[in-house]
Amino acid sequence: MHSKIKLLPKNVINQIAAGEVIQRPASIVKELIDNSVDARAKNIHLIIKKSGKESIQVIDDGIGMNKKDILICFERHSTSKISTTEDIFHINTLGFRGEALSSIASVAKVILKSKEENGETGNQVILSQGTLEEQKQIIKNNGTDITVKNLFFNIPARKNFLKTDKVELRHIVDEFTRSALANKNISFKFTNNNDLIYNFKQENLKQRINSLFGKNIIEKIVPIEEETDIVSISGFLGKPSFAKKTRGEQFFFVNDRFVKAPYLHHAVTNAFDGLIQKDVYASYFIFLKINTEKIDLNVHPSKTEIKFDDDKLIYSILLSSSKRSIGKFNISPSIDFETESSFNIPTYSNKVVTEPKIHVNKKFNPFDTNSKEKNTESWKKLFDSKEKEIKEEELIDIVEIVQINEGYVICVLKNNQGISSTYLLDQRKCHQRIIYENQLKNLNSKKITTQKLIFSQEIELTNSDLLVIKDNELLFNEIGYNIKKIEKNLIVLDGIPSFMNSKNLKEKIEFFIEEIKNENLNITDKAFNKISRSVAKSSSIKQNDKLEKIEMVELIKSLFNCESPFLGIDGKPCMINFEPKNIFDV
Ligand code: ADP
Ligand code: MG
Repeated sequence: MHSKIKLLPKNVINQIAAGEVIQRPASIVKELIDNSVDARAKNIHLIIKKSGKESIQVIDDGIGMNKKDILICFERHSTSKISTTEDIFHINTLGFRGEALSSIASVAKVILKSKEENGETGNQVILSQGTLEEQKQIIKNNGTDITVKNLFFNIPARKNFLKTDKVELRHIVDEFTRSALANKNISFKFTNNNDLIYNFKQENLKQRINSLFGKNIIEKIVPIEEETDIVSISGFLGKPSFAKKTRGEQFFFVNDRFVKAPYLHHAVTNAFDGLIQKDVYASYFIFLKINTEKIDLNVHPSKTEIKFDDDKLIYSILLSSSKRSIGKFNISPSIDFETESSFNIPTYSNKVVTEPKIHVNKKFNPFDTNSKEKNTESWKKLFDSKEKEIKEEELIDIVEIVQINEGYVICVLKNNQGISSTYLLDQRKCHQRIIYENQLKNLNSKKITTQKLIFSQEIELTNSDLLVIKDNELLFNEIGYNIKKIEKNLIVLDGIPSFMNSKNLKEKIEFFIEEIKNENLNITDKAFNKISRSVAKSSSIKQNDKLEKIEMVELIKSLFNCESPFLGIDGKPCMINFEPKNIFDV
């Protein structure tokens, strides 16, 4: 009796495996370039004909292979990159499964030439459907040169499945782009049907992005940078104002490997929430460096999917650093590409990302309407006493400033390179952002900042409001109110939060009481965000308050001292940057 169950022939096994790894010419391009990168090539040349359907060739100057390796490499599971199970947890190469070359060879014709640095001669093999057809010694310079021809010639169903040349070329360009972004220190050439379409020398990320997407892109991106124990993040984010209807450029690299990561994508998109419309997409080029033990790449044979041990943590780090980056850097709309240091506008330390600094007198409260004269005086004093310091710190000049429609401020700022940008501010939302951040800082550092009132004020309140105050005296105290007495139908105040003006105190207190009731505010560490938001809402200037010039100046200065000057506390923008030139000169 013979068994129905048979072991599949090697060639069939490889073809099945190829189904997973090799879907189209672009998959071959990816695998071959990956191999060249792993071989520590300094120069990689990709040459394709008829969108890879006719041939795909990759030439590199990497470590090469000897006479033996050049045959073994086509065996399934042959790899020089790992040898023990333990190695799977420390992967530093792009390949490690040892199935690309065996898969490719099973569905195409392959010509492989290679020479090791110390090898006496080069070697060449020709394989068709995975079987060796020819092997000889050749004269060759160091490195590997592999050509894949007649893709899917032996699997017509797969061949027919291929799309038009245009579509397949698009896929190849996508793969090439990913590799070129991930490996800035490698020179790349790309020849399509005898035309050299890309030629990149070794360069930095910004230059590589420029080489790939054109010079204009540099003006549309801002750096993102974050160092934590778990992950380090670097790269660029597209400015919200340049988000596009099409998906555009969205790239994640984990340890310099391109990955598809919907989860991380969500974190970045979340950071743009409220800054861009729902149907447009922001670009990003984000590089995460993470301990190889903390990730699993072996989720899918194409290795573009990834699992993180600390996925929630990475999500929140990425979200907050994206928010910060958008907030901080949106100020410089047109950065000169040639001067690499222009992102590091005179810095205090060159490692830390810097934001344009505006000097701010922390004690000066522009919204304190008690005495306008006093304000001007302190303003002057600031200039007199600190003139020297300001010269170093004041990297931004306010060129123009006007209030429109009592509620909005338009200003033109110039940075120290003479580049000017125009901003439109919602005065109430911006003031809320300033109060929110200051309040949050104070609560976190357990600092209570109160300004004494010269004459204590009596504020009449309803019984139920008085009850809320009684129950929350500590909370009022922590944010800077000094309640001297609570009587039957009124409270006596002799101090208010230092950022607050003493106008309409009753209204502010009532508003804050409403917030306590609606938001269930309680003074605990976890509620600091909520409390700060409520304080900001209840004590900010109003939409229709008329502002003096000096108040607008101080508003802008304090705003740019914030971590996220562009973000209102409701998550929607409080300020936008627009370039009249770009609107009218299109
Ligand atoms: P993997 O990359 O997963 O190891 P591959 O099938 O892609 O598997 O390649 C098999 C082996 O062939 C590699 O481990 C490497 O040793 C060798 N190899 C492939 N391409 C090159 C190259 N361009 N230069 C040097 N060695 C290469
Ligand atoms: Mg490989």
